[in-house]
Amino acid sequence: GSTEVYGIIGNPVRHSRSPAMHNAAFAACGLNKVYVPLPALDGAAAVAAIRTLGIAGASVTIPHKETVIEQLDKVDPVAARIGAVNTIVRRGDELHGANTDWLGANQALGEALELAGAKVLLLGAGGSARAIGFGLREAGAKVILASRTPERGQELAQQLDCPWVPLEQAAEQAANALVNATSVGMAPLAEQSPLPAAALAAFPVVMDIVYSPLQTRLLREAEAAGCHCIDGLAMLLYQGAAQFTMWTNQEAPLAIMRQTLLENL
Ligand code: NDP
Repeated sequence: GSTEVYGIIGNPVRHSRSPAMHNAAFAACGLNKVYVPLPALDGAAAVAAIRTLGIAGASVTIPHKETVIEQLDKVDPVAARIGAVNTIVRRGDELHGANTDWLGANQALGEALELAGAKVLLLGAGGSARAIGFGLREAGAKVILASRTPERGQELAQQLDCPWVPLEQAAEQAANALVNATSVGMAPLAEQSPLPAAALAAFPVVMDIVYSPLQTRLLREAEAAGCHCIDGLAMLLYQGAAQFTMWTNQEAPLAIMRQTLLENL
């Protein structure tokens, strides 16, 4: 049969690791599929192009995760609540939207603790904190949100039906897990940590979603404090694996995908 085309729509997409990861996965499974960057200034036009060209599925990244929603025939309920779609799946003549960021985060964190009933301190109120927060609520975890800008944080906390604290007070909290979804720790903030080292022993599990660098100051200090640490590769890998499964109905080849991500970080 003919090659099926997948891709990533966003602006910019030149530096995305997704093509390398998904092409390696398709090849490892012997699938006649390719995954290409699809730079797009206009999200709605990009979805129309996916329809017209018969593209079999796509990832969606910044700045189109929100705007594509109204162009799709169906959107998964959690993605709709988050208000962001990062995955488009063709089902016959229809295009369906999903969000695998929360699935990836839950899988990464869920390997270290039972999410149902767990108390999780979530740092940040941006796009990824939003997806992770709704995902944690979906899994039955109790969330405490801590972030820098009060209005933005309080608005998200209200939607998540959870308490909000200013980031400076996050160090006074204790929880079963701590998740950093701020960009603190990522270059150019690579020398910074969102929480003082002395506060980390109050969190048995610490996940940092920053992946550039992978070994953040937060994770180095959490390791020293005896916490179970999860780096940003886990969420990145598992959100991609969930996409692979939605597109192929097959289990994702995790080892090859992980290795490809590592080689391309
Ligand atoms: P956003 O820009 O949407 O949100 C950034 C958040 O970080 C905001 O809450 C912002 O605070 C906070 N922040 C930024 N600088 C500071 C600072 N100096 N002090 C305190 N808080 C700060 O980004 P995203 O949510 O898209 O991404 C966040 C991080 O997660 C990035 O490093 C990104 O690379 C990483 N990421 C990892 C993924 C993975 O799969 N591993 C997936 C997606 C993202 P405020 O609330 O005040 O605006």
